[in-house]
Amino acid sequence: MFMHQRQGSLEVICGPMFSGKSEELIRRIKRAIIAKQKVQVFKPALDDRYDASAIASHGQRKHEAIPVKATEELARHLDPDVEVVALDEVQFMDEGIIPIIEDLANRGVRVMAAGLDLDSNGEPFGIMPLLLAKAEFVTKLQAICMVCGALAGRTQRLVQTGGQVLVGAAEAYEARCRHCHEIPHATGNRLLDGE
Ligand code: ADP
Ligand code: ZN
Repeated sequence: MFMHQRQGSLEVICGPMFSGKSEELIRRIKRAIIAKQKVQVFKPALDDRYDASAIASHGQRKHEAIPVKATEELARHLDPDVEVVALDEVQFMDEGIIPIIEDLANRGVRVMAAGLDLDSNGEPFGIMPLLLAKAEFVTKLQAICMVCGALAGRTQRLVQTGGQVLVGAAEAYEARCRHCHEIPHATGNRLLDGE
């Protein structure tokens, strides 16, 4: 049966690194553009993998994005007639993004947010638990475990960084299932681990 859906909602796409969050976000962005909707795409300025002004997947898909250092900067860039707002790497955004998302969704905007649900210690990442609880729609993706080939819901850090920021450095991480995932004893980088 056809169910009536009022406009304005939050969709969260989560999962470990390499699970296809950016690909899925880009797919939804492209479809919204095909539907002639006004779309704005943002990402935290912190994440500069591949391209400073685009969101990029590990499979080399790309879409242009406005890099923002803080949520006030994001709010300043918002178009009054925007219909769809997409956020990538949302786990790096500060708590200030939550009232902005709520306000947008309440005003009829479709908000799509992609981010890591867990840090590399297997703990909830930053604001993600709040976003997941507030979302109407949640898509939880899995990657492939690089050790055993099973479905992977965790991100394994492969190098100890000693405090150096290694955001999005694909060679420093791999996807693992819960059984193959190992939690390091000492972590040098609290930022990457969501603190
Ligand atoms: P995310 O945004 O979740 O990090 P991306 O959308 O950037 O994911 O990348 C997903 C792509 O990464 C896959 O389509 C595949 O080509 C590639 N990939 C590399 N390693 C893996 C893995 N272990 N499991 C699944 N896909 C992987
Ligand atoms: Zn495994």
